[in-house]
Amino acid sequence: MIKSKYVTQVCTSCGRESKMAIIGAVVGAENKIWYRCTRCHHSMMLDTNLNKKDDSVITYNREECVDYTPDKIFIVGSSIYHTDWDDMGKITSKEKTSNGGNAIWVEFEKNGTKKLIENLQLAD
Ligand SMILES: [Zn+2]
Repeated sequence: MIKSKYVTQVCTSCGRESKMAIIGAVVGAENKIWYRCTRCHHSMMLDTNLNKKDDSVITYNREECVDYTPDKIFIVGSSIYHTDWDDMGKITSKEKTSNGGNAIWVEFEKNGTKKLIENLQLAD
C-alpha cells in the first residue's frame, strides 16, 4: 500500500536525494513502481522491497518453538515461546549469572532482548 504520493530516494540520474513522485505500478512486476525525480524529472523504476529490512526480520513459527520454563536447558539459536508473554523469540547467547546459575539471552519478537533463567535448580 502506498501511503504518500512522494518518497525520498537517491535519484539514479542526478545522484541526489530527491523527492520522487510516484507515477504508477509496473505492469507484471508487483514490487516495482515508477517514480519521477522532482529535481531532474528523470523517470525510474524502483524496487519497493529495497525499503524493507526483510533480512533482519526473523519470522517465528509457533510449532518450532520450545515452550519456555526456567528449569529447561536451551540451545543457542533455537526458538522459544514464552507462554506468560505470548511471545516468540530466538536464543542468541548464554551466560552465567552472578549467583552461579545459567541464563539465556533471547531476542523476542514483541518484548525485544530479554535475559531468562535456564537450568534452574529448585532448592530442596
Ligand atoms: Zn534526479
